[in-house]
Amino acid sequence: MYIVMVSSECAPVAKVGGLADVVFGLSRELSLRGNAVEIILPKYDCMRYDHIWGLQVTYPDLWVPWFNYSVHCTVYFGFVHGLKCFFIEPHSEDNFFNRGAYYGFPDEALRMAFFTKASMEFLLKTNKRPDIIHSHDWQTALSPVLLYELYRHKGMDNCRAMHTIHNFKHQGVAGENILWFTGLGRPDYYYDLARLKDDFNPSAINFTKGAIVYANFTSTVSPRYAWEVKHTDQGYGLGHILHVHQQKFGGILNGLDYDMWNPETDPHIPAPYQSKTIEKKYRNKEELRERLWLAKSYKPLIAYVGRLDGQKGVHLIRHALLYAINHGAQFVLLGSSPEAGINNEFWDLKHALNDNPDCHLEIGYNEELAHLIYAGADMIVVPSIFEPCGLTQVIALRYGTVPIVRAVGGLMDTVFDRDYSNKPEEERNGYVFHEADFQGIESALSRAIGLWNHYPEEFNKLMLHGLAYDYSWNNPGQDYLNVYEWIRHK
Ligand code: ADP
Repeated sequence: MYIVMVSSECAPVAKVGGLADVVFGLSRELSLRGNAVEIILPKYDCMRYDHIWGLQVTYPDLWVPWFNYSVHCTVYFGFVHGLKCFFIEPHSEDNFFNRGAYYGFPDEALRMAFFTKASMEFLLKTNKRPDIIHSHDWQTALSPVLLYELYRHKGMDNCRAMHTIHNFKHQGVAGENILWFTGLGRPDYYYDLARLKDDFNPSAINFTKGAIVYANFTSTVSPRYAWEVKHTDQGYGLGHILHVHQQKFGGILNGLDYDMWNPETDPHIPAPYQSKTIEKKYRNKEELRERLWLAKSYKPLIAYVGRLDGQKGVHLIRHALLYAINHGAQFVLLGSSPEAGINNEFWDLKHALNDNPDCHLEIGYNEELAHLIYAGADMIVVPSIFEPCGLTQVIALRYGTVPIVRAVGGLMDTVFDRDYSNKPEEERNGYVFHEADFQGIESALSRAIGLWNHYPEEFNKLMLHGLAYDYSWNNPGQDYLNVYEWIRHK
């Protein structure tokens, strides 16, 4: 099959969040299975050019119709770790992608609409006719709309549109001008609640809603999140349109890059291990303690790795830390927040606990330390308020580290409570709590710490159960292919 990804991010060249990892991981899996995959990205000035091999101009003069004129673009080609990528560089006064950052500009909707339009125009002009055009998140959500309203009539009638929503909080809500710029026009036609009109702002169109209406299939990043966005406020107002189109909407769990996250070959950990040599994990625990000046006492080590953001349940993270050190455990936190208030709160906590030999707070981003923490910790907490998929808990399982998570989104699809899950015993791999309050997280922490202290062999089993799971791209790769096949022949 011939698949083209249209995305504003792809790891590691242009990465802001999980979207980038999914585009890269899924594309690689699909390529390994023998499909032809190409990725179209904006040519940002701030990209990691050191990850692009053989970058060269491939299509010097792409003229993209834009409002009542055309924008001259140059299209580049290069390999990103073996994947074929095209980079679109517009030459206009707007200077859309040469601004030193990926996002954060007042004309964001216009920038991304331009990129989406240019991608479609590139496919058209170069006679590329992919079986599937797979767009991602609000940034490229107009792709299915453009395909079905404009490009289908220009010879792209055999292409099918797949759209993946990685986070429903960001939908791309903009004004009528987008319609005129992209060539869609006809506001009276698109300003219809069954098409692009935003359900809450009558003067706005909603890109993500457009994708849900027009795509042949819309997916999100875990089955549970797919349910939540349809049935709870997690859909941020898109629940109704999801119901209308529910026969072409579903959740596919994200995969994890099993090469990058592999306790057997991880260059960042001193003692590589696997399930048969799990006892070596404790050498990594010792190394972690040494590096972070923690006491070498007989205590479980609990960790948090991730953004310190309201979504992640900061009050619960903080509470877990205090509970752990007051109940015979140690705690390591690695995280940072773009919000000064949250960062300061954790800096204050760090200063207050400065002399405590049982905890360490590392405020900042540190990839290498993250690897050592996943390998060295006994347990990891993920008390998210909402979580479309979540990678932390999956990485923890891969490293035999027992996850303690809140029952929400993708966390619920990946972690099964040791005591209360209805799964067979060997499939239970962690601890799950439900309410986002102190009692909830305390109950899970106390069960986990208790098992570690009193039933070490049972705890060991739990670690091995986690290690036995396969959360690589293998299964989701097949799931996406199944959907592609289905929409091709529908
Ligand atoms: P989200 O995408 O919402 O931030 P995920 O759980 O999907 O959360 O992914 C988080 C990823 O970012 C994980 O790979 C985690 O290890 C990494 N990460 C987050 N914060 C840090 C940090 N401060 N230092 C190192 N890695 C981090």
